[in-house]
Amino acid sequence: MGGEYTVEGRALIGESFDEQRVALHIRDGIIVDIEERSTGPDRWICPAFFNAHTHIADTVAMDIDAPGSLSELVAPPDGLKHRLLRETAPGDLIRAMRGTVDVMKRTGTSGFADFREGGREGVFALSTALEGCGMDVVIFGRDGGEAVANGLGISSVREHGNRTADLVAEARSTGKMVALHAGEKDGRDVEDAIACAPDLLVHCTHATDYHLRQIADAGIPVAICPRSNWRLGVASSRDFPPVRRMLETGCEVFLGTDNVMFVQPDMGAEMSFVSYVYGLDPATILRMATAGAALAKTSYLIEEQRKAHLITVDGAGGNALFSKNIAKSVVNRLNSLSIEGTILN
Ligand SMILES: [Zn+2]
Repeated sequence: MGGEYTVEGRALIGESFDEQRVALHIRDGIIVDIEERSTGPDRWICPAFFNAHTHIADTVAMDIDAPGSLSELVAPPDGLKHRLLRETAPGDLIRAMRGTVDVMKRTGTSGFADFREGGREGVFALSTALEGCGMDVVIFGRDGGEAVANGLGISSVREHGNRTADLVAEARSTGKMVALHAGEKDGRDVEDAIACAPDLLVHCTHATDYHLRQIADAGIPVAICPRSNWRLGVASSRDFPPVRRMLETGCEVFLGTDNVMFVQPDMGAEMSFVSYVYGLDPATILRMATAGAALAKTSYLIEEQRKAHLITVDGAGGNALFSKNIAKSVVNRLNSLSIEGTILN
């Protein structure tokens, strides 16, 4: 939104997400002033979310009846999703991706990082689907798609073996980012993934303490996708992914929702799941749901001189008025509160 306007309410401010009653003055999309207020509307203002790991193209196979192992379902080149993607007409693919982008916006997501299959054509199809959406999108392509994307997305070091290092070096030489899935079904590919010094590791569901120490020391962020891990049968307790140990070790943890085929890319639902399974404090979960914006070289925190990426919730609707802790209520039950709008810039 351009121009000048003010949003008033109870906002979750800065990196601590402390609640303050404020008026946010926004000019040309930038929060120019955060003014404290003693009264005002019962509106909640929360940073919008960044979904740090998606595969939105496999919307085309959403909730298909598909028993099978992780590799039978999603591993390239012949897992079920890849066969279905090849069979889908380009127009249908673009429509499916647009539908998913719409769901993400309506559930408070302002940006996401997507692994896009299908080479250059795949990246072009996603770019077409994104036209006019106003979101911050980081595209990790493959099979040549990386040349026209923001970076290279590698399914696992297992896929390319010794060639992985060459692919990474090539992407780096052209200034591209690098992201890898690692440690999804076991920990055996984590060490080699860390050795690639990527910009992002995805999953680390089965990373050991030794791995986590290396990841933290190298400053590599980890996008965890807990609902996907449970859905695909690679997690059986809160030790997978080891979120508490990741945080204790000092890893930067982002939240992602992974394959739209299995999991709705709804960050409210992901936060709520993490809250129930891990019992973390709300500020930690909100940080995981927003900090991935760093992949798009931006920040979604509500601070002066930042771009406004906000969700507003009707704090007087339904049972919202009775919340004693709005950060906790956003984390636990955003979807049953009413999102008035998502402000993207
Ligand atoms: Zn993935």
